[in-house]
Formats: sequence, structure tokens, C-alpha cells
Amino acid sequence: MRKQHENSRAGLPERAETVILGAGLTGLIAARELLSSGRRDILILEREARPGGLLKTNREFGVTIDELPHVFFTKNKRASAIFKKLAGPVYSYRHSLGVMWKDGYVDFPFQDNINQLGLEEKKLVLRSLLEKRLEKKEPVLRNLEDYALRELGSGIVDLFFRPYNEKLWQTPLAGMEYAWLSSKIRLPGPAGLADSILGGGRSATGDVAPHADFIYPRRGGIEALAEGLLRAIKPLALFCGVEAVRIDPKLRIVHTSRGAVCYKNLISTLPLGRAVRLAGLKDCSRAVSRLRATRVVCLQYALSEVKLPPYHWIYVPDPALPFYRLTRVDLINPKAVPGGKALLAECALPVSCSSAGLEKRVTSALAGLGIVKKKDIKKVWSSDHFPAYPVPHARRREDVPLCLRRLSAAGIISAGRFGEWSIYNMDHSIEAGISAAEKITLS
Ligand SMILES: Cc1cc2nc3c(=O)[nH]c(=O)nc-3n(C[C@H](O)[C@H](O)[C@H](O)COP(=O)(O)OP(=O)(O)OC[C@H]3O[C@@H](n4cnc5c(N)ncnc54)[C@H](O)[C@@H]3O)c2cc1C
Repeated sequence: MRKQHENSRAGLPERAETVILGAGLTGLIAARELLSSGRRDILILEREARPGGLLKTNREFGVTIDELPHVFFTKNKRASAIFKKLAGPVYSYRHSLGVMWKDGYVDFPFQDNINQLGLEEKKLVLRSLLEKRLEKKEPVLRNLEDYALRELGSGIVDLFFRPYNEKLWQTPLAGMEYAWLSSKIRLPGPAGLADSILGGGRSATGDVAPHADFIYPRRGGIEALAEGLLRAIKPLALFCGVEAVRIDPKLRIVHTSRGAVCYKNLISTLPLGRAVRLAGLKDCSRAVSRLRATRVVCLQYALSEVKLPPYHWIYVPDPALPFYRLTRVDLINPKAVPGGKALLAECALPVSCSSAGLEKRVTSALAGLGIVKKKDIKKVWSSDHFPAYPVPHARRREDVPLCLRRLSAAGIISAGRFGEWSIYNMDHSIEAGISAAEKITLS
């Protein structure tokens, strides 16, 4: 991977048949697809010094800890085959997940394990479900709050769903749409809720969420996927440290921090609003002004010991704790810290908020919870990511298609997690890269 950076010191070509903006998973997959269809006049431009986008692994001092926690799960056979081919041998797991709850933990999904809560909480959940049944009118579903209340009742919403999601998204439930939710969690329905409250329910079968079975590269962390892709597209030109700063769709020129490039086809994996602005598409400026993303700061701990139940990851709804999720990296990759343990803490921060002091706050919280002893900390790293989660804001279903249509009319194929402003996982990004390439090869 590092060899291809040497390109960044050479001069940029003045033209290329296809220019791809962004060397994350979507851009690299699109390049691989174009190459395999016989196209070679492709130029990939990446703003960062290193390709891979979100797929970065910290490998300092012999550790292998992803900057952001990543595991691969999908029902999509094509994406799964591509992942395995590119990332090499994998570990396979049936997940075991928890929710940090009061002085202990309950199994995830929270809504499937209400029987593990205290009596008062069980009563709260049950009462809210019974009250819901007595409501005469079918509720109007305006937003995620309405939808969650209808599906889960106010007990589960107030105990877990609201605090966790508002912490993660940094957005009130009433400010978000809900179409995305059913692809991320399995909603229990009446029979499932009965099992959940009384015990002995479906969570015991493990069929609980789209990520119930997941795989992870045996070597190199999640960045092994990006490295596999870079090997696959080796004949192509990839320039790192080059930022797209303006797009002239009429003349088909991308202006960059290193000069202008003429193109015939353009794939952008940049954040949707950024691509719209770079292309000067003023008629979507109101839609763009509503697009918001979260910022995630991850702290990666190399430890000699950690005290946690053996969950792969743990959701943390408590608003008083600075992290929303803890991942036991060493249970996913046993070689993450040779002879030690690895823990990843994810924190969602307002975009303009300083992260100074965050490491101290997270370490104190972990120590206060008895998870980590300060003497057991070998080293801590931090990485700051923005955008991280595109927020499914209330008008997403109008704003995003409008921007995509305008870009398409301007001859720009916008693709990927941020290019399509969707909560895409790696399998979706693989499909997004393939479909972006097909818009060129099939045209
Ligand atoms: C916290 C977190 C956890 C996740 N966990 C999982 C998981 O467990 N499993 C899973 O399947 N998926 C997970 N994902 C999603 C997964 O990371 C993405 O689907 C995928 O990596 C997105 O790839 P992309 O190429 O679309 O975007 P990116 O990786 O963001 O790539 C876009 C690239 O464009 C570059 N760029 C931006 N602006 C410019 C510019 N002006 N000029 C040139 N280049 C530019 C960026 O530097 C970046 O490299 C997670 C994501 C996050 C944030």
C-alpha cells in the first residue's frame, strides 16, 4: 500500500478517461471493476496521505487495532466473496453482544432480553405495551420516535432506544426518519416481546441482528481489505495527498490542490453535500444545508488485562459515560495485541467540540467501572473521524435523491456511504462501487 503513495510526488496527469475521487472502499472497488472490464485510463485522487478511507488499521509497535471497529457481515454472496478474496483468510464468529446496564450487563438486543432487567423495569415495559394496545387511533408515523414507540413501546424506548440512539446520532429521535432502522436491527413484534419479557425467547437462538455472524481478516486488520484492493488495481494511477477543490461539470474538469484534470467520466465518493458544492449546483443548497453527519473519536487501548464479560462489543446507553460502544478487539482478532488485550472505545462528539481531555475522561470512566486498571494500560491511541455516520434526518428521503439527481444530470456519479449519504456498511459500499462502475461500462 505504501508504495503507491510515491505517486503523490509525481506530476498529476492532465487528463484521464475516468477520474475517481476518494480511495476508500467504494472508490477502490469501482476502480477494480473498471479495470476488470478492460479500462485502464483511470485516475484515483485521494485527499489523505494514505488510501483506504475508513478502513485504516493502527499497526504501531506490533499491535493490529482498527482505527474504527470493523467486522464484516452480510447476506450478499457477491460482496462476501469479494471480501474474502481481497482480505485473505478470515476468522468467523457468531456474535455475542451486551448492553452496559446499571451495575452490570444485559444481552443485546436489549428489546429481546427484558427478562434480564429488574422487576420495576419489566413492569414499565409491559405497562407501556399494554397501554399502547388500548390506544384507539393508529399512531401517525412522522419520525423515528413515532416509529420506535409504535414498535417497542415507551418503556423500551425510554430505557434504551432513546438514550443510546441520541448519544450515537447526536440528534433527537424526533429529528430522524426511520426507513433505515429495519435493516439494522430486528424488531421483535408482539410474540418476540412476550418472549423477551417472560424469558426463553429468540435471543437464545442467536438470530438477533444482521451482524449475528461475522468475519474478520486473520492478518492485517480491516486494512487488509484495502490492501487487497490496492494490489488488485496496481496498474492504475492513484495519487494521495490530492484534494478535489472544484468541479466544472460543463468543461468536465476537476480542479485539485495539485492542478486540473480533464475527465470523460467522474465518480465521486466525497460527502454528497461537498460534491454538490464543488460542482456549484446551487439549486440543491437548501437540501445540502440539512445534511449532517456525526463525528466519532475512537480510543484504542493496548492492555495487559481487561475486566469485561466476553462480549464482542457492548452498547453503552448511559449519557453520563463518554463512549457509546466498547469493542473487545482481542476477542475478534486474538493477535491484536500480542500477549495482551485490546479495547476500542467509540465516542460521538459535536463537530465543533474540542477532543482535548477526552482520553483522560474515557480512561477515568473505564477505571471507575472497574474495566481497566491504569497500571494495565500499555498504550492508548486516538483517531478522529468526520464524517462518520450520515444522520438520517427527517427530510433525508427528499434531500438525498434531489442531490443525487442533480449530480447525475451534471455527469457526476456520486457513490458510497457519504456519496449516497446512507448508513452503508462495507457490503453496501462494495455494491455501491460496482454499481458506480457499471454506470460507465454499461452506458
Ligand atoms: C464508526 C464506524 C464503524 C463502522 N463499522 C462497520 C462494520 O463493523 N462493518 C461494516 O461493514 N461497515 C462498517 N462501517 C462502514 C464502512 O466503514 C463504510 O461502509 C466504508 O468504509 C465506506 O467507504 P467509502 O469509500 O464509501 O467512504 P470513505 O471510506 O469515507 O472513502 C471516501 C474517501 O474520499 C476521500 N475524500 C474526501 N474528500 C475528498 C476530496 N475533496 N478530494 C479527494 N478525496 C477526498 C476521503 O479521504 C476518503 O478516503 C463503519 C463506519 C464507521 C464510521
